[in-house]
Amino acid sequence: MIFKKPNAPDASSNESSDVSQNESQYASQDASQDVSKDVSQDVSQDVSKAQSSDENQRKLVEDTLKYFDSIYPEPKCGLTFQDPYELLVATILSAQCTDARVNQITPHLFKAFPNVESLAGASIEAILDLIKSCGLYRAKAKNLKLTAQKIVTEFKGKVPGKLEDLITLPGVGRKTANVVLGDAFGIPALTVDTHLGRLSRRLGFSRRDDANAVEADLMKIIPQPLWTRFSHQAINHGRQICRARKPACIDCKLNLCPSRVI
Ligand code: SF4
Repeated sequence: MIFKKPNAPDASSNESSDVSQNESQYASQDASQDVSKDVSQDVSQDVSKAQSSDENQRKLVEDTLKYFDSIYPEPKCGLTFQDPYELLVATILSAQCTDARVNQITPHLFKAFPNVESLAGASIEAILDLIKSCGLYRAKAKNLKLTAQKIVTEFKGKVPGKLEDLITLPGVGRKTANVVLGDAFGIPALTVDTHLGRLSRRLGFSRRDDANAVEADLMKIIPQPLWTRFSHQAINHGRQICRARKPACIDCKLNLCPSRVI
């Protein structure tokens, strides 16, 4: 739109060319001032919205950590283990299987194969026989043997204590590796399973579905020394209260949760 200055000559006069150029300048200056005013208003609104949403998130993270400490004061891994070898084996077995079922299986498995070397030398049939009450047992038996063999040949018989090494083992993804790092080696690690992923999205700590992406989002807002502890607490909360189908919000004290339904 062209805005005409008061007393400006008619566009049909001889001066029209220069003047209309001037008019255009005025018009575009006015328009650009308006636009830049709008833009700066938008930007400052966006900045203050972002600041307030950062502020809300900080408060919700703080509340969540305090609340979890009050209801889950001594969180720990649900799998029974004595050392990194046992935890690695138990965690591989726990995919699509309850911790309780794994804890029933592992005493027999560790009696038959008490260390990495004995598991590496076991026949697949012997492993299968001991783990067949667990879901996906064929694939797990194969992975357990291959993992044990790789630890013997590439890591001198010791379960590696680094994420980049652990994830090279057959059947070991980032989640399993983080369980081992956090609970067997005492290295802070976030274990994003189905419960922690769901809870993170409901609390607004992440908007993403991919477990690795959720882990990256949580790393930015949960203090590192608390990663392992927070993972166990959140998994407990997801199992007991913030359940997948029907979260028991009435029993949850996280009043700032954006997904709260009462
Ligand atoms: S308020 Fe409800 S949705 Fe939010 S964390 Fe608690 S149980 Fe889950």
